Amino acid sequence: MKFIGAHVSASGGVENAPLNAAAIGANAFALFTKNQRQWQAKPLTTESIDAFRENCAAHDILPEHILPHDSYLINLGHPEADKLEKSREAFLDELQRCEQLGLKLLNFHPGSHLKQIPESECLSHIAESINRALEQTEGVTAVIENTAGQGSNMGFRFEHLAEIIDQVDDKERVGVCIDTCHSFAGGYDLLTPASCAAVFDELEKVVGFSYLRGMHLNDSKKGLGSRVDRHHSLGQGEIGLEVFKFIMQDDRFDDIPLILETIDDTIWAEEIELLRSFAD
Ligand SMILES: [Zn+2]
Ligand SMILES: [Zn+2]
Repeated sequence: MKFIGAHVSASGGVENAPLNAAAIGANAFALFTKNQRQWQAKPLTTESIDAFRENCAAHDILPEHILPHDSYLINLGHPEADKLEKSREAFLDELQRCEQLGLKLLNFHPGSHLKQIPESECLSHIAESINRALEQTEGVTAVIENTAGQGSNMGFRFEHLAEIIDQVDDKERVGVCIDTCHSFAGGYDLLTPASCAAVFDELEKVVGFSYLRGMHLNDSKKGLGSRVDRHHSLGQGEIGLEVFKFIMQDDRFDDIPLILETIDDTIWAEEIELLRSFAD
């Protein structure tokens, strides 16, 4: 079965996210558990945590189908020791917030070398950051998202994801999330059923579907290999609809959150309905 949703607003409290998801016909969702553009956040209150759990249960949305995203400020591959430490502390806080909410996944962008250290050293920093955070938490899987490779961002090749996973001690609690816009901008051709099959065969070969914990379903404003991260509504960008049909008809994408991060939230309900129609 397919679990489809969007990255919904948690404005007014995390407990509103499951309500916003249910309102657009979603049976999965993503959220920020704190303001994504600030380092500090107030701790979650008991009332907010209880209401979040109740609202998820009331709408039959399971923790396995909820894919929280961490703050954009965090860089787990930072070349400078003090800034790396600040990111590691913030990442631990994000994982602990997920623990409190009874969530099982935390989605994050791997990190950037800022042109100050070699790629391989950056990937090792990221793996070590994950190891430290997992040692101090329980039950939450670190889900590495592939990127468009903008600037010095790592994670735009499946090989980067594999190299990080290889250095993570607890293989049970590390996974990946593949963003279609990022893949396409990063150079993976998703234009036709045949090219989609080839890209996902490569994902199987390099990373393995056993690590796939979620997908971000986005069209792209920029072209194949542009290395520029600009999402678009489904079918309105450079990718078109074939990849979304492909994903909805392939059972390797069953039972994981399939999350829209498309730019027009007023048509999310329609986009979810369109995706469901592809699965029939
Ligand atoms: Zn992301
Ligand atoms: Zn994404």
